[in-house]
Amino acid sequence: MAKDVISEVFAIDVFNDVVMAERLPKKVYATLKKTIEEGEELDLDIANIVAHAMKEWALERGATHYTHWFQPMTGITAEKHDSFISAASNGGNAILEFSGKELIKGEPDASSFPSGGLRATFEARGYTAWDCTSPAFLREDAAGVTLCIPTAFCSYTGEALDKKTPLLRSMEAISTQAVRVLKLFGHDDVKKVDCSVGPEQEYFLVDKEKYMKREDLIYTGRTLFGAMPPKGQELDDHYFGSIKERIAGYMKELNVELWKLGILSKTQHNEVAPAQHEMAPIYGTANIATDHNQLVMETMKKVAKRRGLECLLHEKPFAGVNGSGKHNNWSLVTNTGKNLLEPGKTPHENIQFLLILSAIIKAVDENAALLRLSASNPGNDHRLGANEAPPAIISIFLGEQLEDVISQLIETGEAKSSKQGGKLNIGVHTLPELKKDATDRNRTSPFAFTGNKFEFRMVASSMSIAGANTVLNTIVADVLSDMADELENAENFDLAVHDLIKKTLTDHQRVIFNGNGYSEEWVAEAERRGLPNVKTMVDAVPSLVSEKSIKMFEKFKVFSEVELHSRAEINYEAYSKAINIEAKTMIEMVNKKYIPAVIKAVATLAESINSVKAAVPSADVSVQTTLLTDTSALLAKAKAAVNRLQEVVTEAATKEEGAEQATYFKDVVFQAMAELRAPIDALELIIDREAWPVPTYGELLFEV
Ligand code: ADP
Ligand code: MG
Repeated sequence: MAKDVISEVFAIDVFNDVVMAERLPKKVYATLKKTIEEGEELDLDIANIVAHAMKEWALERGATHYTHWFQPMTGITAEKHDSFISAASNGGNAILEFSGKELIKGEPDASSFPSGGLRATFEARGYTAWDCTSPAFLREDAAGVTLCIPTAFCSYTGEALDKKTPLLRSMEAISTQAVRVLKLFGHDDVKKVDCSVGPEQEYFLVDKEKYMKREDLIYTGRTLFGAMPPKGQELDDHYFGSIKERIAGYMKELNVELWKLGILSKTQHNEVAPAQHEMAPIYGTANIATDHNQLVMETMKKVAKRRGLECLLHEKPFAGVNGSGKHNNWSLVTNTGKNLLEPGKTPHENIQFLLILSAIIKAVDENAALLRLSASNPGNDHRLGANEAPPAIISIFLGEQLEDVISQLIETGEAKSSKQGGKLNIGVHTLPELKKDATDRNRTSPFAFTGNKFEFRMVASSMSIAGANTVLNTIVADVLSDMADELENAENFDLAVHDLIKKTLTDHQRVIFNGNGYSEEWVAEAERRGLPNVKTMVDAVPSLVSEKSIKMFEKFKVFSEVELHSRAEINYEAYSKAINIEAKTMIEMVNKKYIPAVIKAVATLAESINSVKAAVPSADVSVQTTLLTDTSALLAKAKAAVNRLQEVVTEAATKEEGAEQATYFKDVVFQAMAELRAPIDALELIIDREAWPVPTYGELLFEV
């Protein structure tokens, strides 16, 4: 019998519940479980025993080092490795130690991580604290095997310097508020509500040799130049197409690596653009899903390199074909296993579901700009609002069935029926009869209800999903909290719930939109409805520090005002830095690659004209002459544009850091970049392929 590969490798690199149950004394295990599940404090004696077991397990698996693995505000992960060696007696054996203290707390030098002014470099102390709710794991690379301990990262004064801490705080907030609401419905058994997240990850794979010839890919993760090849994605032949051998091999290895880390890698397929693919895991608790998604991104890159490929996680690696995003599937699940977003067969009778649904609708409507920001990075500005990704306008898709229930509620104050799906008639007798979903899909909505979860589709592909889920959890917790306040004091609960649902839906129905989100009409319609259309990341930043946001985040202790301001600063800074690097890369490529190549091409044309004329004075050299004229004109344009870009980049450096500088990059530098790209792309179309200094889109996208 063939081996069962999945069972053989699954979670072998994870110090998970099974391993802990096996290796920890019963009492210790029970105490630790209590901490993990109920958030009880962990004492040092227990930590010491856990640390010992963890170390023994890791050593058996060949580990030499351990690291506190954390997620600073760069959006990627960071680590500092310590070996297990503690001392060696005179020439004797090394003593390998790992104490509870070392497990619980670390102190990396934190001065070089972005802090948005939270921590002056002279007081650079930062602490990492063990997050026992996300299991430790082993990672093997050229440095050997390392025990990685997921940790939160905070400053000496307790401010969160990372993405994990606020996420954990937001999970507590939504749990507390949801439990309050459920109590009103008589669910006294519910002690905790977890948010479950399943992020679908899109990515591109390109050939490493070709990648290495493009500074833009190396420095910025996207192509800054490049003309479209004759074929793009217009035939839709890549989407769900059969997977090429080389890519299939990559996916197979990726799956095994992810399974080893306990990541439930589930689906894989080709995406819309050539060379674009997707992987989706089975969903899990937001915190673990976030850690796992970081590991997914790292592993995607690592496996690619091993196989002579490069994995591009950038939101828009190529102009002219679709970019990548991350669909953040989100739902709320009780500790008793009930999904609060499960409408049941007759949603109109499911009052609890309708209340939660209306809370989410209100939360999204009231915090659209904040949600937009939570999904923003410089790369995503190329996608949102372009005809491939959700628009920058936030709206909610509910589907036919729920929309019908809601309009009944709003119109008559009562919902009497739920549309049912019925049977799907395919018209071929030998095919099985399929049951139809009550609702079709809508692929253009930024925030879509898909059966028993919401799918937030704006999230940037290269970004941590921590921010998006932190915002989602908090805004929903905020509304649920107000609702609980109101309902706890109601004299007649049934009547009060009913009125509250109706009022909430009536007040916020403007955010519901079931049509085509990519259309021009929607942009106009959304404006009429008063929905914000925040076009860029920079424009979205102020939403983080609005009076309303500060009040909300402070109320639920997710972010303090200081932490919010620091994050606003970091957003501006990240934007400015990213555009600055892109602009400088363009200048370098134009000056050192494109212009020299074009000058050579021009010289070749001129020589050709001269030598033909010398040989046959009456010969027709009009083709060469036209080409020479056109090429020279574009060359002059490129030179002028590169000078201009250099000028504005220099000017940008003089602007005050923060909003002012970021705005200048967005409005002026970005524009100058587009003006430089145009003549270079036009040159690419007329110059001899052999003379072109970098691999083309055609080669990058189709020769993988
Ligand atoms: P799609 O058609 O958009 O690809 P799928 O049903 O395949 O949707 O699910 C996509 C992702 O949603 C997967 O990662 C899946 O695990 C996740 N998912 C499914 N149900 C839930 C849920 N209740 N909560 C959160 N995520 C979920
Ligand atoms: Mg999806």
